[in-house]
Amino acid sequence: LFFRDAQVNLTADHLLDGLLTADFSYRSCRSRYEFTAYHQKSSHKPSPYLIAKLRKQEALQKRCGPGTAAYKKALRRLESGSGGAATDIDECRYLVNISFRGLGNRMLAVTSAFLYAVLTERVLLVHWGNNGGGAGLFCEPFPSATWTLPRTAAGNKRYSPLGNLDEYNEGSEKSLGNMLQSGGAVVSGASGRNVSWSWASSPRRRPPAYVYLHLAGGYGFHDKLFFCGAHQRLLGEVPWLLMRTDGYFVPGLFLTPPFAGELDAMFPEKDAAFHHLGRYLFHPSNAVWRAVTRYHRSNLAGAGRRVGVQIRVFQEKQPPQQVLDQLLSCVRRDKLLPPENETTNDAVLVTSLSSWYGERIRAEYGGRVAGGVHQPSHEGEQRWGDAAHDARALAEMYLLSTCDLLVTTGFSTFGYVAGGLAGLRPWVMARPSPWEEWTEAQAKAAATSETPCRRAVSIEPCFHSPSYYDCAAGKDVELDKVRPYIRRCVDVSWGIQLK
Ligand code: GDP
Repeated sequence: LFFRDAQVNLTADHLLDGLLTADFSYRSCRSRYEFTAYHQKSSHKPSPYLIAKLRKQEALQKRCGPGTAAYKKALRRLESGSGGAATDIDECRYLVNISFRGLGNRMLAVTSAFLYAVLTERVLLVHWGNNGGGAGLFCEPFPSATWTLPRTAAGNKRYSPLGNLDEYNEGSEKSLGNMLQSGGAVVSGASGRNVSWSWASSPRRRPPAYVYLHLAGGYGFHDKLFFCGAHQRLLGEVPWLLMRTDGYFVPGLFLTPPFAGELDAMFPEKDAAFHHLGRYLFHPSNAVWRAVTRYHRSNLAGAGRRVGVQIRVFQEKQPPQQVLDQLLSCVRRDKLLPPENETTNDAVLVTSLSSWYGERIRAEYGGRVAGGVHQPSHEGEQRWGDAAHDARALAEMYLLSTCDLLVTTGFSTFGYVAGGLAGLRPWVMARPSPWEEWTEAQAKAAATSETPCRRAVSIEPCFHSPSYYDCAAGKDVELDKVRPYIRRCVDVSWGIQLK
């Protein structure tokens, strides 16, 4: 598909049924309007309400973003350390997402932060982190505004009133959890109707200039109170929120009372939240997109059907042969590729850090799939702060998302992003938890499992670290029983997923 002239008539297809604004030039970011040319037409339409909210957020980002008078004013206020509820109607409030971990984690985190910003009418700014890309990989999602936090407010100690953003963690004094524990912030009556809150430790009990939200895996009870309605009212008064998260906490927002109604209206199909938000926010830069489209044209475009296989191994000690056997057994059991003595016009796309898997799958299936078995890269290991490495990872997530069928690896956010963008419910290969030691028991369980893969319950990413605490009830609950649209994930037994 070629667009030769600068003037392209954008159709509803290019704009993903109204999800995207037509306010960008075509050439500045080809992936934005070419997504539709490489992907199947989505069976999920964004609701008019979601579209209206997105346009409203774009206007907010433009009015309050870096470079505007409102931003300068907010930054000055932050520098002077003065807190206080935003009283001026023109005053802007901000959410800074501190990005960390691998690219899949970062994308899910940014998506969650973006939705939280929309719900709370804050400007989203992303601190892509000092040890990894992001800024150069994606096009700007909002017209006439940047979503990248300028250096003057990030990490540069000379200027930044926030200090080094990469150093915020669960121990930070300004975290919601620690403020609640130290009595700096007080919320009472959270379980009843008479909710009250105050900033006990600050001068004249005014809200602080900023609060840090620690929402990363392994976070504690008090940080998890973020998901309570009462605590959201407290946070609403704070001009700047900093947030460190590594995952997809959108299901948690659906469980937070003040957001439930809005989310209902935005997402009549709840299981398409990431599918819409991800396709709205992420547009690979022209350089990355060129790599995607070139690879696609040479290796995948001609096939009758594209089968994507994402192999991720978290435990170094897990034998590769075992991982391969699991995949082959999944493919055979669920007849995802042609059996022996049959050929089809399929192409297989393999992504993995190791070339061995692509080679083995080619040896097994190369003769049966006329479209061939292709593996774009084999990086060996995950790397940090390497832009070319990140670019290849992003290209592969998008290549996977162009497939017609996906087999992904459990626990992997890389696979979640691919499936979510594609709008496909993948076959998910079980994996032992990445955080545990590889034990004899795990080895045995992996080797003898009779379910090499399971079909995901929806196209949504899994939220790995939900809060089980029901703030109104004052006790833990079984999250998959409280709403019909919340299920446990097939790959992470304690995780939840929208369906
Ligand atoms: P997760 O760790 O599987 O949840 O996914 P992340 O994307 O957060 O982190 C894994 C990182 O390792 C990726 O961002 C890449 O940098 C790298 N990586 C893992 N698997 C692949 C792969 O199949 N292809 C490429 N190019 N990179 C990969």
